Amino acid sequence: MQENHTTPCIHCPTCGKPVACSAQEKWKPFCCERCKLIDLGDWLDEKQRIPGGHVSPDHDGIE
Ligand SMILES: [Zn+2]
Repeated sequence: MQENHTTPCIHCPTCGKPVACSAQEKWKPFCCERCKLIDLGDWLDEKQRIPGGHVSPDHDGIE
């Protein structure tokens, strides 16, 4: 008896869609290029948020 070769073994970190083990390695662990780019974009966005930048949360006299 042959196993179903489309049995999902991982889930896409971006959309949560099941990704088959036999899926294209290109986008793994993502289900597609779009999800990979979305995740990469989020990651880059996080990296670009530098703490202690030009944002002054304690700037008084504004209100
Ligand atoms: Zn996805």
